[in-house]
Amino acid sequence: MPAPTRARLTIDLDALAANYRTLCRTAEGAEVAAVVKSDGYGLGAAPVARRLLREGARSFFVARIEEGEALRAAVGGREADIYVLDGLTAGAGPRLAAARLTPVLNTVPQVEAAVAFAAGSGRPLPCALHVDTGMNRQGLTVDEAGAIAGAPGRLARLDVGLVMSHLGSAHDAADPRNGEQLARFRDVRALFPEARASFANSGGTFLGPDYRFDMVRPGISLYGGGPEERPDAAIVAVARLEAPVLDLRRIAAGEHLGYGSGLVMPRPTRVAILGAGYSDGVIRAARHGGYAWLAGARRRLLAVTMDLTIVELDEAAVQVGEMAELLGPNALLDDLAQAAGTVAHEVLVRLSLRAERAYLGE
Ligand SMILES: *Cc1c(COP(=O)(O)O)cnc(C)c1O
Repeated sequence: MPAPTRARLTIDLDALAANYRTLCRTAEGAEVAAVVKSDGYGLGAAPVARRLLREGARSFFVARIEEGEALRAAVGGREADIYVLDGLTAGAGPRLAAARLTPVLNTVPQVEAAVAFAAGSGRPLPCALHVDTGMNRQGLTVDEAGAIAGAPGRLARLDVGLVMSHLGSAHDAADPRNGEQLARFRDVRALFPEARASFANSGGTFLGPDYRFDMVRPGISLYGGGPEERPDAAIVAVARLEAPVLDLRRIAAGEHLGYGSGLVMPRPTRVAILGAGYSDGVIRAARHGGYAWLAGARRRLLAVTMDLTIVELDEAAVQVGEMAELLGPNALLDDLAQAAGTVAHEVLVRLSLRAERAYLGE
């Protein structure tokens, strides 16, 4: 059998389901919605959502309307509430209605467009309201939300089922911004007593019961990222990126390694050349402090190029063709993200389609 040359990306939907159940147990009593924007953080929104529906999930969040339309097609006749975080963008009303997508309205013009669309269709428009409580990225201001709540005529056109906000520092339980946002969100929520309330992302879900309200919206912790941006024992790896050892080499002391002359080996070094690089999602910046898992141990990344990655080996018995893990249960997502100076979310969405993909537990 010829030795493998391609990287392999395995997406373990049983692990996804285990994380979902962990989040359900943690959130006790609150609904756990699944954030599946950006194609389920790069892991495939359709297989992810279909598996989570089987586990009992009912609500899903996407960013773009196209993602919502694709997800509606993928879940077929199954009961799923699909929320579009972009809201009601210009002219999108009929498309949202056709795919039964719920817009998350986040500006005053969007609220007005929703009221107008509802007036034209003759029935209240199911929607959610996103209120900014301190992240300063998306959402109505607290004052704007107050003005909307104080205009019952307009509100009658809308069926506001959910009021939500998003935390900016939930990965850091000690950050005072969490409590400040919570206090504002409580005020906002009181403006819409009929609606359900949702505040917490993955990190927020673990901040405690005060943060959970009626629905939590985890993304990264479903996909294996720790809620505090470091490895978490309760959350298991979902994505496993593996690449074959293409070659084993010995580098003499004083020799240069890879591109440029930045890396000069201080001593004779044995290395393995792996058949995956940054075009498979191995982030180049992770060469400072990142590692792969090979022959039962962590192996320091020395260089990451487009198609190849070089890792340091000791005298471990390694065969050409053997698979090394670049991300997974042993090469931890949060460690890789930290080495690369980014967040786990970005590491996952960069897993490109070049790696051969397989799903477990579909
Ligand atoms: C992306 C996103 C989430 C999920 O965040 P995680 O950190 O991945 O858990 C929740 N809510 C909103 C509004 C988002 O944009």
